[in-house]
Amino acid sequence: MLFREYSEYFHRLEQTTSRLEMADILKELLDRASAEEIDKAVYLTMGSLLPAFRGVEFGLSEKLVMDAISKACGVRLRQVESLYRQKGDLGDTAQELVSWRGRGLSLSQVYGELMLIARSRGTLDKVMKLINLLKGLSGFEAKYVVRVILGRLRLGVGEATLIDALSLMLGSKDLKPLIERAYNLCSDLGLVAKRLKEGGERALEEFKVQPFYPIRMALAERVVSAEDIVKRLVRCGVEAKYDGFRLQAHKQGSKVELYSRNLEEMTHMFPDIVKGILEDIQAQEVILEGEAIAVNEETEDFYPFQVTIQRKRKYGVEEYAKEYPLKLFCFDLLYLDGEDYTLKPFLERREKLEGLLKKTNTLRLSQMFITDQPELINNFFEDAISRGLEGIMAKRLDAPYTAGSRNFNWIKLKRSYRGTLADTVDVVIVGYYYGKGARAKLGIGGLLVAVYEPSTDTFKTISKVGSGFTEQEWIKLKQSLDLIKLSHKHPRVDSLIEVDVWVEPKYVITVNADEITRSPLHTAGKTSEEHGYALRFPRAVSFFREDKKPEDATTVEEVVRLYQLQRRVSLE
Ligand code: ATP
Repeated sequence: MLFREYSEYFHRLEQTTSRLEMADILKELLDRASAEEIDKAVYLTMGSLLPAFRGVEFGLSEKLVMDAISKACGVRLRQVESLYRQKGDLGDTAQELVSWRGRGLSLSQVYGELMLIARSRGTLDKVMKLINLLKGLSGFEAKYVVRVILGRLRLGVGEATLIDALSLMLGSKDLKPLIERAYNLCSDLGLVAKRLKEGGERALEEFKVQPFYPIRMALAERVVSAEDIVKRLVRCGVEAKYDGFRLQAHKQGSKVELYSRNLEEMTHMFPDIVKGILEDIQAQEVILEGEAIAVNEETEDFYPFQVTIQRKRKYGVEEYAKEYPLKLFCFDLLYLDGEDYTLKPFLERREKLEGLLKKTNTLRLSQMFITDQPELINNFFEDAISRGLEGIMAKRLDAPYTAGSRNFNWIKLKRSYRGTLADTVDVVIVGYYYGKGARAKLGIGGLLVAVYEPSTDTFKTISKVGSGFTEQEWIKLKQSLDLIKLSHKHPRVDSLIEVDVWVEPKYVITVNADEITRSPLHTAGKTSEEHGYALRFPRAVSFFREDKKPEDATTVEEVVRLYQLQRRVSLE
């Protein structure tokens, strides 16, 4: 496929805000793409070159892209800058300045060139390559290439829409779960599309977990009492809930990779865990999960979360690793020496994990016991809290590892207080307000935030948040949000409320609130008959949750459940 033809799809996607229409356009694109180019087509519509966990970045600033445009087009940098100020978009600027028709490059060729730019080390080299690429493109094509490079494609194509398009391509809605499963096992939609194109339905049925493709993480539901746990699970595994950060570790021979909750590759940040895995595990190939937590080596006490989280850093990695060594409290085994464990029952996975972690140092088994007695669970819970842990996790003994889904196979019970929510809520920032009074001088005083609705792949507003941040944090918030501001509401945001500035749904923050109430103003859970849900007295308890993508925010369904839990707590 020619890149010019591919750009037409970008153009059509840009024109619509209807998700159904987007899926139809994407289906047409996927039908047309060959097996060799379909993965590239998938990545580029999401504005990247590879799945996020491969961490490919262009490393070109706006300034350097302007420089490349000016050199490619033979115009002064000042002229590019002034046109950019006028248009507000560098893609549109490039389109206007490129006056030639282009060489008719194919999608694969342009993708290849983009990859070379991303992989080049020096900035000069990157700029030279971009100049060459621009010289081979028409203005229409250059527009999209520039946007991809700057991470500003913003077509609003989410994973869920692409999955819909893939199932349309297969010609049957019934096969959608198969596509979802394959995606959950590899987190790479380009790979899923390729396999589908090459081998059809059969290839997906045979899809397996493989090292160095992160498995989308299984997540837990919440309850408010040990009795509820037993009611749901009867006999279950009860574990300590460690308050650190989750890591999925992949090992093959002497190579190890670590992925965060958000499936970002973070191996370089934790050399102590990499070393620990190589020393502690005898098996050739393993994928396991655990919670990393900093432990005081003298006393074997856990450090508080604020200390542990400092280990997530790009600089000073070695010093911090010495000062605050991590232990990985392993709680699941997903793959072992060629065998996919995700379908095996929890108890079997756990037994195998215990066998694997016999003589270890950095790797530890999560503490677990099996019971159907609420009193024993309560005692364990109290004990966990007194040791500074967050609470407990209960697990269904015969359940498979349900990749990418939140359900009652895993249940979390945290410290909760009467009258307040049983848990915090993770929300996505979709816009902000300039602020009044003292905040007006900062130019930002409040955020409009939303939760996620997977069935429509949209973000539904739930609250305005105006407290919980320091002045410094507000300043940082504004800086980051201004980089992703939009002239109109994002197509995936559903809101009845206006804001001063709309932004791309990108950043997740955690908020606490006194309670959830019903409100006509918000769209979370709103139907034609019933009001939506809203947070009362919300306050931010985190800055950006870098470990969560917008689609990892709390879902509308979870909000409804929290609302019901809170009603039960106050009735008791
Ligand atoms: P979630 O990860 O469910 O979206 P969250 O990031 O807000 O939510 P919590 O609600 O605190 O986290 O609970 C789930 C997390 O608890 C897991 O993702 C994992 O990182 C952590 N965890 C700690 N101990 C365990 C354990 N024994 N088994 C499973 N998860 C555990």
